[in-house]
Amino acid sequence: MVSRVIPVQPFDLVLFGATGDLARRKILPGLYHRFTVGQMPPEARIIGSARSKMDAAGFREKVRAALEEFTPAADRNEEQVDGFLDRLDYVSVDASGKGGWKELAAALRPDVVRAFYLSVSPSLFSGIAARLHDSGLATADSRIVVEKPFGHDLNSAQELNAGLRANFEEHQIYRIDHYLGKETVQNLMALRFANSLFEPLWNATHIDHVQITVAETIGVDGRGAYYDGSGAMRDMIQNHLVQLLCLTAMESPSKFTPNAVRDEKVKVIQALDPVEPSDIVRGQYRADDGGDGYCDHVGNPDSRTESFVAMKVHVSNWRWAGTPFYLRTGKKLRARESEIAVVFRDPPHTIFPNVGRLRGNVLVIRLQPDEGITLRTTIKDPGPGGLRLTEVSLDMSFAEALGADSRPQDAYERLVMDVIRGDQTLFMRGDEVEAAWAWVDPVIQSWADSGDRPAKYDAGSSGPEDALMLMHRDGRRWREIGG
Ligand code: NAP
Repeated sequence: MVSRVIPVQPFDLVLFGATGDLARRKILPGLYHRFTVGQMPPEARIIGSARSKMDAAGFREKVRAALEEFTPAADRNEEQVDGFLDRLDYVSVDASGKGGWKELAAALRPDVVRAFYLSVSPSLFSGIAARLHDSGLATADSRIVVEKPFGHDLNSAQELNAGLRANFEEHQIYRIDHYLGKETVQNLMALRFANSLFEPLWNATHIDHVQITVAETIGVDGRGAYYDGSGAMRDMIQNHLVQLLCLTAMESPSKFTPNAVRDEKVKVIQALDPVEPSDIVRGQYRADDGGDGYCDHVGNPDSRTESFVAMKVHVSNWRWAGTPFYLRTGKKLRARESEIAVVFRDPPHTIFPNVGRLRGNVLVIRLQPDEGITLRTTIKDPGPGGLRLTEVSLDMSFAEALGADSRPQDAYERLVMDVIRGDQTLFMRGDEVEAAWAWVDPVIQSWADSGDRPAKYDAGSSGPEDALMLMHRDGRRWREIGG
């Protein structure tokens, strides 16, 4: 199956932080891929910007090196790389000062879509928004894109929102959560709302519980100082896992428009019960094989920051009363794996002799390492010798379904093109981000008040013992990480 590519409108995309890690690893390679499939019209231009002084030719050479490092060799040929580099320009701007803004204004065209991508520290967001506005660079139709983290708590998120909204309208602001750009996450909406099979069963009557896991094998990986001031609750739960929970739990929007979808997501966050201390476990990884542990990695021997969180969450509404959502995320775990597992209730009665308890179906929406959807079903064990039952998975891997020559799109590719198209569906709205902080803040505060330390867990394990108990005491089990 070959996907259709519809070119977007001509645009000027100003990439602040164009020499940074995220731009080099994700944003510029993503834009290159969109160029190679023909989604960028000939008039599209990308204007890199940072404080470093260089000319357009110097910037192009840096981007060439980034493409060599971060795109597969099979996706690169000289002609295409040169064609993409031709679209690039560079203007040195000090985002917190006065230098470079006039030159940036001179580089922009009046009659194309204008987008400003802030791949810089969030401390620069409000200042850049103000300068874009005051220098007249932000037109009524311009878009501004901001990266995570969007705040550290509710107060700081409100301040960021105020800083952006003082200069841009909400419909111009694109807050990135790259999990929303994953094919599978959107497929969850398609699965639920474009099929008649699942939605009648998508409630507490039929679903026993939902497990959402985002497991990483890496540690803090050079982000120690940032991570130690943040932790898994802020870095993963408040944004990515809450977003996955929202898409799983939300009601059907009346239509597939950005605000209709986001209205339903906000309602889910507002329906979340405060988390009981007994329903949450936080952990910190130990040194593996005599190597460094979390505290060594962040250079803080007394750190109480969590590298792991497992929690039981109740969505207090008619649809979900009695069906808990278990969320779990952590670093240095057994495998890199992200999934949403919807565990249906066990069949109420069995007609088959000697088979014991029948287990419920499990629908697994897999985000990493490969994207796909599986449904665990019970069938007859093939062969003679009586009717025995066995479990098999109906498996839909997107790589297979889309064909060998169809390269899966990275989340950033999709999201950047959505910005140009002016589609905010897969971006977080300001009230949504604030609602998520309002929900996680009391948990973080209670940890700070208690002074308790996170439970230790072994690197390469599936987290602290207490996390297993969180489900065991409810008569349930986590799915095996890497199983
Ligand atoms: P980074 O590697 O430190 O890059 C920062 C970029 O900002 C550089 O291009 C830097 O270039 C520029 N910059 C810094 N101060 C500036 C100023 N005053 N005026 C203009 N440009 C300035 O950071 P990053 O890892 O790419 O992260 C960028 C943003 O994405 C952050 O908000 C981060 O939280 C977020 N993010 C990153 C990742 C990731 O994997 N890296 C993932 C998710 C979110 P000059 O020094 O030349 O000015």
